[in-house]
Amino acid sequence: MERPKFIASCSFGKDSLAAILLAKEHGEPLDEAVYCEVMFDKDISGEVPEHWDFIYGTAIPALERMGVKIVVLRSEKTYVELFTGRVTRGSKKGMVRSFPLCGKCAVQRDCKVRPIERYQKNLPADVVQYVGIAQDEQERLLRLEDGRQVSLLAKYNFTEQDAWQLCEKSGLLSPVYAFTDRGGCWFCPNAKRAELRHLYDHHPDLWGRMMALQAIPGKTTEKFNRTQRFSDIDAIFRQEDEDAAQAAA
Ligand code: SF4
Repeated sequence: MERPKFIASCSFGKDSLAAILLAKEHGEPLDEAVYCEVMFDKDISGEVPEHWDFIYGTAIPALERMGVKIVVLRSEKTYVELFTGRVTRGSKKGMVRSFPLCGKCAVQRDCKVRPIERYQKNLPADVVQYVGIAQDEQERLLRLEDGRQVSLLAKYNFTEQDAWQLCEKSGLLSPVYAFTDRGGCWFCPNAKRAELRHLYDHHPDLWGRMMALQAIPGKTTEKFNRTQRFSDIDAIFRQEDEDAAQAAA
């Protein structure tokens, strides 16, 4: 009987990369690694630029040298298209959809889950998916589908810290871990202050694009996250810079 197909879900974060490294180290079956790239617009990735460089410049070439086939998925929809699309029904009909909601992100649904689901439809029913969930993430481990989703990190007793060390030792730790402990789009409403400050300091072009979106009139919401407009965050960072300049003078 033919064995099922084994596929690793990969975001190129430490846990999913460590799972692939463990698969190779222990001779686990692995047919391909699937990565879904969210796009800001047709040309700009949703990945933080340092992570994007790491993915395409370091991680994919390294995995391919190990014999891992990489499948890159992208939705035909982008963040900007979702943002600028108009509501078609209800009391907000005609308004610009605006920023995705915290905890109910339309980008996650349309630009990540949908392309993966579409891809999975063409796979055999008995496919086994390796997921990057560590031994110390018990709640997430309990939610795994029996037999169809496997955590190699749990199988080999790897905590998140072990995953970090394995990636670091292998030269496959994304540089984003220098300023954040989570992966995600650079325009994510769940982004922490340090991530936003990084974007403001190092990627003013991307920051400017968010400010331009904030300025679009007729939006369903002005809020970028639960409490703030993007322009509020911009004002806070500007003030911080002014205060720092004054303190240094
Ligand atoms: S990282 Fe944030 S913005 Fe990107 S899909 Fe996930 S929740 Fe949405």
